[in-house]
Amino acid sequence: MFLQQLQVGPLETNCYIIADEKSKIAAIIDPGENAKQIINAVNEAELKVKYIFLTHGHSDHIAALKEIKEATGAKIVIHELDAHMLTSAESNLSFLLGERFTQPSADIKLKGSEEFRLGDLFLEIIHTPGHTPGGISIKVGNVVFTGDTLFAGSIGRTDFPGGSFDMLISSIKEKLLKLDDDTKIFPGHGESSTIGYEKRMNPFLR
Ligand SMILES: [Zn+2]
Ligand SMILES: [Zn+2]
Repeated sequence: MFLQQLQVGPLETNCYIIADEKSKIAAIIDPGENAKQIINAVNEAELKVKYIFLTHGHSDHIAALKEIKEATGAKIVIHELDAHMLTSAESNLSFLLGERFTQPSADIKLKGSEEFRLGDLFLEIIHTPGHTPGGISIKVGNVVFTGDTLFAGSIGRTDFPGGSFDMLISSIKEKLLKLDDDTKIFPGHGESSTIGYEKRMNPFLR
């Protein structure tokens, strides 16, 4: 799998570009800012972007959405419970950063266990609510993109509207920690890790 990680925006959000190496069919996960940098990376690798996946609807994960959508024509995919955040500056919390914005609405609203294909790559959607009601993780082979649900050594905040600590913990324990120990975690912020390491070492999960 082609995998490129870009750190974007003031909150250092991890934007990921993934693609099937053979067909070059690609997806962008969480275009949180720096549209030009993301588009350049896509063009440099000669990728065809089919989907833009949003792990959730917070502003630091969606700020470059409009420009990326216009440049690529890719379909915007988000869980149905977070879809309204794209079109409301109150819900997406952009007003907190002093820069109110809305974005194009979703093309595909998930319920959470859909599968997508990028050439030979299989993507599995895992609904992991808690940080937001419509938070998702995306599993591709032995890699999982966890958004702001699970971080290396930490977990997502649950003090924003719609957040739930109990839900977050059960999403992590019942869905993510059930994956193989050697599954690599690529979170929405910070370093990557593995399921096995977080199971043993993450202080929030003991
Ligand atoms: Zn968030
Ligand atoms: Zn975030």
